[in-house]
Amino acid sequence: MRRASASDLLFDTHCHLNHPRLLQQLPAVVDRARGAGVSRMMVVGYDLPSSRRAAGIAAETTGVWSAVGVHPHEAESVGDGDFAELRVLAALGGVLAIGETGLDFYRNLSSREAQHRALERHLDLAEDLGLPVILHCRSAQDEMLGVIAARRPSSVIWHAFDGSEAHARRAADLGLLCGFGGLLTRKGGEGLRQVVRALPADRILLETDSPYLLPRGASGRDNEPANLPMIAQIVAEARDEAVTEVAETTATNACGVFRLCEGS
Ligand SMILES: [Zn+2]
Repeated sequence: MRRASASDLLFDTHCHLNHPRLLQQLPAVVDRARGAGVSRMMVVGYDLPSSRRAAGIAAETTGVWSAVGVHPHEAESVGDGDFAELRVLAALGGVLAIGETGLDFYRNLSSREAQHRALERHLDLAEDLGLPVILHCRSAQDEMLGVIAARRPSSVIWHAFDGSEAHARRAADLGLLCGFGGLLTRKGGEGLRQVVRALPADRILLETDSPYLLPRGASGRDNEPANLPMIAQIVAEARDEAVTEVAETTATNACGVFRLCEGS
């Protein structure tokens, strides 16, 4: 058997293998990820059907776990029945987090009030079940930090972090972990690379957000977990650390927040 290298540890903490564009070629996507050293993946739900699919993929695929939740874009239409089903899904083996939930005041596809209500209900569910929460936040950083400061949930991931260094420091002080991915490669990426440089190592996670946020320089139309080494490389350069160290630290952080610690 080939001896595992440190880069085999890479953990994609946010991908949507449950998205139809990736689902139709799932075995190949997972194979390419493993071939690139991405041995662990968290598949995140964005509505009820995608949460069901996430749980199903996690049940069938080694090294893949899932989160269940409804994206803030859909907050307007999420009701009691949906939260009841999320609770049932969250009890399944391999479902390790609640999300993605959050606030998106950039696209405002649901009213701000509805987004806040849905976020609170996801936080309630996570607290009840003792699970971490995965947050989506766009153009609402101060509002999000306000919610977190008021509620103090025990375990939170701020995915696709794109706030300022001040936001990141406040998030870290509140115990949050921040996920970084393709945004590091885009316009404004230098500011984000500075954030990555400033954050304590134990607050950083790597993610692709596949099929979205294709890193600049990656091939293909859709992003996929196999592109995660590009992100690890950028984070390593920003922090002036070895890529193996970044791979190991961020995977350890992921195992900690998802409670997969037992040397799996
Ligand atoms: Zn997402």
